[in-house]
Amino acid sequence: MREYNGSEAPRLQRIVCNCCGRSLRMENGRLKEDCVFVDHTFGYFSAKDGVRHRFDLCEDCYDRFLKTFVLPVEESEESELL
Ligand SMILES: [Zn+2]
Repeated sequence: MREYNGSEAPRLQRIVCNCCGRSLRMENGRLKEDCVFVDHTFGYFSAKDGVRHRFDLCEDCYDRFLKTFVLPVEESEESELL
């Protein structure tokens, strides 16, 4: 969950993990740890047709989520990070 302040130029104020409710570390409006942001709009063949879901997961919750998978995620190393 992301909270912004200011209406004309909204600035990211806080990110809260939707799974555990922990506020992620931020300094001067910048995130100081990693998180997974999901933004998905379900399509026509879904029971949630046209419904948009957005949420954030801290890295610990993401790792617990991955352990529920039957198949592992595809993983590779990126040499250039943004
Ligand atoms: Zn979490």
